[in-house]
This record gives sequence, structure tokens and C-alpha cells, in this order.
Amino acid sequence: MSAASPFEADAQGWVAAARRLPSPNFEARPAGAVPTLIVVHNISLPPDTFGGPEIADLFLNRLDCDAHPYFDQHLRGVRVSAHFVIHRDGALEQFVSCDARAWHAGVSNFFGRARCNDFSIGIELEGSDTTAFEPAQYATLAALVKALAARYPIRALAGHSDIAPGRKTDPGPHFDWARLQRDTQLADAYFPCFRQPGAPDATL
Ligand SMILES: [Zn+2]
Repeated sequence: MSAASPFEADAQGWVAAARRLPSPNFEARPAGAVPTLIVVHNISLPPDTFGGPEIADLFLNRLDCDAHPYFDQHLRGVRVSAHFVIHRDGALEQFVSCDARAWHAGVSNFFGRARCNDFSIGIELEGSDTTAFEPAQYATLAALVKALAARYPIRALAGHSDIAPGRKTDPGPHFDWARLQRDTQLADAYFPCFRQPGAPDATL
């Protein structure tokens, strides 16, 4: 018998390896909805600025929107959350139980199924569309994704830009899907939005 991974969610949907910062921005998943999709995002507040407490502050509804013009113009009154945030050093935070519906995807559609928050787990990487992600972030992400895929009936991963095209661009051009697939050893079918260059189109 192997020891449980610290990234394995407990019976209430919380991961031991994560610093727990419960957000009020969640609700129950609709009756019968289970997480079948993992959505990968990037976020930095202000954009392209790393290392501060602002992401957590946003998800905990305590961001000082007078502190920066971007916050004032874009985030005042906004109520959002993700299940997880992975910081630049790989540190993991969890804001919402995996069993609950976090508010990360917004208006979204995954191969014809709308309201992706109903059936997804959202993971934010501290980062931006203009900066490479850190090896420590990929390491945490891979461990988390593997544990989530073992615990929940996950069938696919997608970027926010894949489920909200035209509206969202994250996780952006620097996110390395091939690396995530290599690190997780998940089959091609888990990555319907990502194709290795030169690979034939998947049939869906
Ligand atoms: Zn996003």
C-alpha cells in the first residue's frame, strides 16, 4: 500500500498540500454534476506583477480596489474564485472545495456544454500571457492534476481560452501543454484542445 499523496483531496474535497483559504465565492454544484474537466488559468494582480497577496485578496473579497487603477477599473464589486492557485514558487492555495462550484470560468462552453463552472475544477497559475511559468509551478500542477484525476471522474483538461475563446486568453502562449501531459502521463484524450505540432486532428 502506498501512502496517500498530499495532493489527494479529502472526503470534503480539500487538499492537504494546499494552504486553505476558504472563499465565500462558491455554491453547490448542480444536482448530479461532478467534476469532469480541469480548467487551467493564469492570473496576476496587477497584471504581470507577481508575489503579492492580491490574488488571495480578490478571491476572499478583501482586495483594496483603491490601491491600483486596474483594480478600480476591472475588479470593483467582482466576486470570483478558483479552487486552486499555484504561486511562482510552486506553493499551492485552495479557496473552494473540489466538491463545490467555484466562480472561475464565467460564460464558457466545452464542446457544446455550457456553464463550465458546474462541472470543472479551476486552477490558476500565478502568471501572465507574456511570461514563462516556473518549473516549480509545473511540478505542483502535475502532482495536483494527477491526484485530482485519480479522485474525480476527470475526462479532460482545457485552458480558459479554450472554453471562452475571444473573451479570455489565459493560460496564454507560454503555458506548455506538452510538458503537463508528459509530467502527468495522461492520455491524449485528456487534452482535446491541445495538439502536438504535426499530430493528426482528434475526432471528437
Ligand atoms: Zn482565466
